[in-house]
Parts: sequence; structure tokens; C-alpha cells
Amino acid sequence: MARVRVMGAGIIGLAVADELLRRGHQVEVVDPSPGSGASYAAAGMLSPVGELWYGEEALHALGHEAAELWPDYAARLGVALQRGSVLAGADAGDMAQIDRRLKLAGSHHEQAVALERAELLEREPGLGRVLGGAWLPDDHSVDPRAVVAALRNRVRVADTAQTIEPEVTVWATGTQLPEPYSALVRGVRGEILRLRLPTADLPRHTVRAWVHGEQVYVVPRAGGEVVVGATQEEHDAPPVVSAEAVWRLLDTARRLLPALDRAIFVEATARDRPGTADNLPLVGPTHEPGVLLAAGHFRHGVLLAPLTARLIAEQIETGGVEPAVDPRRMAARVKQGAGR
Ligand SMILES: Cc1cc2nc3c(=O)[nH]c(=O)nc-3n(C[C@H](O)[C@H](O)[C@H](O)COP(=O)(O)OP(=O)(O)OC[C@H]3O[C@@H](n4cnc5c(N)ncnc54)[C@H](O)[C@@H]3O)c2cc1C
Repeated sequence: MARVRVMGAGIIGLAVADELLRRGHQVEVVDPSPGSGASYAAAGMLSPVGELWYGEEALHALGHEAAELWPDYAARLGVALQRGSVLAGADAGDMAQIDRRLKLAGSHHEQAVALERAELLEREPGLGRVLGGAWLPDDHSVDPRAVVAALRNRVRVADTAQTIEPEVTVWATGTQLPEPYSALVRGVRGEILRLRLPTADLPRHTVRAWVHGEQVYVVPRAGGEVVVGATQEEHDAPPVVSAEAVWRLLDTARRLLPALDRAIFVEATARDRPGTADNLPLVGPTHEPGVLLAAGHFRHGVLLAPLTARLIAEQIETGGVEPAVDPRRMAARVKQGAGR
């Protein structure tokens, strides 16, 4: 049994703490503002296929592995898992984007089925003027706030460090790593909206779309919430919601899903995604004995949470390291403080 302090109670710190507690370790979690970071904003898409991109094979492999953990993980936490996603496009240029994704999925042996307009509308009758799309049966979604709440029921979080003399400290503080690691993660702002629709008007699945070149996603929740996201912007200022982002997201989303005109506007949120230089998270040991990182999960922290929790537990128990996410790959940046 190890004595472990976890700094940070976003989805990553909480998932790590829960996994360690389950394995019988002594754990203290410290966060003055639990669940208030990027995890509060996240849409909750578990999208190893929809997020596939060129040159991101290692990230895809991790995402694929994590996605396979989610059905059991969600069941254990008592959180609903919404299954499958569609891609949709409004014009020929948008369809070229979808074609590219279909080819990428095929080359990574992932399931993705092209849909004619009629087939797409059969799956998602509420869509507006779309030309066609694709069905991604293995891209699911969860409500990250429900996941955080379920984890917080299992893990006690303190404002300040107090109860244990830790043998291991895990920094799971999202964009806010301590020195000398702070330069390994940078904030990438995301703005996202939450609205409410009558359940009959909700899309049946997550819809990721290109609408005349504008990208948008719409994630439905059983209770009537619909999440519309998201912007992505490199910046140095605190994350605030810009009027332009609200306007652009709503304008694109209502062209995709006209019923959104009847929605109740609930919330616009901005948070920083914790980005790294290679878009891969930092999970595992540092050059300091007893100091581990579980940070830098960028666009995929919800998806990767159960996998990161397992990797940290295995590191503590066996010393095992997953090379693709080993924080020591960034050693030069730690010394030079040149992560940005
Ligand atoms: C708009 C948006 C949409 C997203 N959508 C998705 C999605 O669909 N799917 C997906 O997988 N991911 C998504 N993400 C990414 C995901 O939100 C992040 O990767 C994930 O939330 C990171 O979790 P975290 O626990 O590392 O960080 P955070 O949630 O930011 O938590 C960090 C915690 O550390 C605490 N903290 C900071 N400093 C200290 C300190 N010194 N001591 C103690 N505690 C401290 C903070 O209070 C905070 O609670 C999205 C992100 C954004 C912004």
C-alpha cells in the first residue's frame, strides 16, 4: 500500500484517486476548487474515431484503448453512456471533410459507415439541410459533470494538504503544473454552450458537423440538455466567453439542427484545455523521485480518464511506464522551461 497525494480534483485527479483507493492505497486529494477546471466545460465526447487526425497514431491508440474501458467504467460509476455518433456535412466541401475522416478511420481499422442523405436523416430526423454523413458506432459520450459528481461521491477532496506524509505526489492540476513543469502545458481556450430542448427535439446521437466550412458538434443528454461546441484558440489571457463565439456556435448549430431555435439558453462557458507540445498527455514519472504527472490531456481528458487512472496506479505499483505519455520525453523542455 502506498501513501499518495493527488493534487487536483478535475476528472483526471478524481479518476486517479478513485482507482488508487479501489486498489487499497491511502490517498489524499487536494483541490481548493474541485471540478471547476476544463472538466466543467467538457462536452464529454468519447471520440477516438471522430477525433482521428494525421500523425496522431499514438494518441489514437490510447483513445481507442480508453474508449473500450468506458462502457464498464460508466456502469461502475452509475453514469449514462450515450452510444454512437454521426458526422454530417452541408455541402460538397463539408462532404470532402467527412470523406477524409472515413478514409482515416479505415486506415486505422476503425468502424465508420458512409451515410447517404436519406440514411443520415433516418438516424437523425431533426437535421436541417445536410448532404450526407457517416455513422461512427464506437464513438460514445457521457456527461462529464455527472462523472465528476459520481467520482466525488467516492473520493474525499480537501482544500489543503493535511492528513498524510505522501510517498508519491501526483500532479493532476490540468493547465496549472508547478515548477519546473509549468512550461509543459499551455492553455488552449474552448468556449461551449449549454441549452435545453424538449426531449422529442433532441438529436438521438452526438452530431459532429461541417456546415459550409464551419465546424460544430451537438451532444444530447437524456434529460434534455444539449451541448454545442466548441471553439479552440491559443491564447495567454484568462478564458472568457466572447460574443463572437456564442454567435458563431449558435448560428452554425441552428443551421444544422433547426429545433435549436426553440431551445432555452442555459450557459456559455470558457475553459482552457491543457495542451502539450505533441498533443499527448503527460502520465507517469518525472526526474524527481516520488513526483508523478497526470496532466496535459488537451481535448481528450474525459476519454482518457480511466486509462490514465490505470497507468498511474500501475506506475505506483510496478514502476511500469507507457512510453508514449512518459513525461520524461519532455525533459529538455523542463530544463529550458520552453514548453510554450
Ligand atoms: C470546451 C471544452 C470541451 C471539451 N470537450 C471534451 C470532450 O468532448 N471529450 C474529452 O475527452 N475532453 C474534452 N475536453 C478536454 C477535457 O475537458 C480536459 O482534457 C480534461 O477536463 C482535463 O482534466 P484535468 O482533471 O486534467 O483538468 P481540470 O479539469 O482543469 O482540473 C484541474 C484541477 O486542478 C485544480 N488545481 C489547479 N491548481 C491547483 C493546485 N495548485 N493545487 C490543487 N489543485 C489545483 C483545479 O482547481 C482543477 O479542479 C474539453 C475541454 C474544453 C475546454
